[in-house]
Amino acid sequence: MKKVSVECRNISLSYGKTEVLKDLNIVIEPGEFFALLGPSGSGKSTLLRLIAGFNRQSQGTLLVDGKDVSSSPPWKRNIGMVFQSYALWPHMTVWDNVAFGLVERKLPRNEIRERTEAALALVGLSQYAKRRPNELSGGQQQRVALARTIVIEPQVLLLDEPLSNLDKKLRVQMRRELLSLQRRLGITTIFVTHDQEEAMTTADRMAVLDHGVVQQIGSPNTLFDFPVNRFVANFVGTMNVLEGAVKERTSNSLVLAVEGVGDLQLPVAGEVPDTPRLAASFRPHTVQIDMAGGNGDGRYVWLPGVVQASEFQGEFTRYEVQVGDRQLTADQSHLAGLSIFPIGAPVAVGLEPSQIRLLAA
Ligand code: ADP
Repeated sequence: MKKVSVECRNISLSYGKTEVLKDLNIVIEPGEFFALLGPSGSGKSTLLRLIAGFNRQSQGTLLVDGKDVSSSPPWKRNIGMVFQSYALWPHMTVWDNVAFGLVERKLPRNEIRERTEAALALVGLSQYAKRRPNELSGGQQQRVALARTIVIEPQVLLLDEPLSNLDKKLRVQMRRELLSLQRRLGITTIFVTHDQEEAMTTADRMAVLDHGVVQQIGSPNTLFDFPVNRFVANFVGTMNVLEGAVKERTSNSLVLAVEGVGDLQLPVAGEVPDTPRLAASFRPHTVQIDMAGGNGDGRYVWLPGVVQASEFQGEFTRYEVQVGDRQLTADQSHLAGLSIFPIGAPVAVGLEPSQIRLLAA
């Protein structure tokens, strides 16, 4: 099957006076597994429904395979959508649920049988063909919903939080299955989620939305390492932020006066926003935690602190440390025998300058 691109050009959409999507520009490459990530109400579903043809933009163009489909109704778009609720027909068998779209299209009987069999085999449900949806587990129902959509061989697959009804363990299993199915079919897939872990682990690239505005588009790795603003930094993973006024600025270093903590001298590499205040942002796993005074490793900027809370996670311990009047999160990887700092312990928190990203405050 031909792999197609999906392109949103300057798309805006309003409900009455409320602008829900604001001048969106997204290019999804042929065969890509693309996630739309954002908090509830950020406009993800609205955009997905717009691509499917259930919503119409007030401005801009939607191109599929380079062709403007803005005025095509949903049934002419060759796009398949799997809803959060699955929306299976309860009175029909699994087979009839999957075959439904083909019967509706009045395809020859032989073809309906072959394609339904193939779709059920693809999702590993051949032996469940005679059951009804309520005789299946949540994960199996999810696979029926997928089979029912891919059987019509859409050029684009849209998934609206397809895993959110499943428990954690099943969700992890299903997202692997989904990804492997997507890879085998090579179908351009757009996946809506508010779960950053889900987006990070599956997507080739993703767009982070907030209030209907695209904040950043990139691979999970790029967004995690190089968020362009504080919203993305906080939404994709956990981020510590020390905000302060820029006191001195040279070409390769600056001094940030962080209220309640003190002056931080930081080396500067790459672009730094030219704003009077900056947010020094760094991930918990890049932070060292040691006995008060630090371990003397000059690579780190050591700050004194007091342990407020600790959570032993097995692979690592997550500490909340009070530093001046700020609270920082530090993850220390755990090895057998390593003791855990008790609450109230004076410690030193070591920031690794190369891991600090300076964002506009
Ligand atoms: P998300 O999928 O990111 O949770 P939605 O796309 O569902 O967000 O909603 C985005 C915004 O649009 C929300 O503020 C929501 O209240 C509003 N909205 C969604 N559908 C409608 C509608 N049919 N009429 C009016 N407002 C709507």
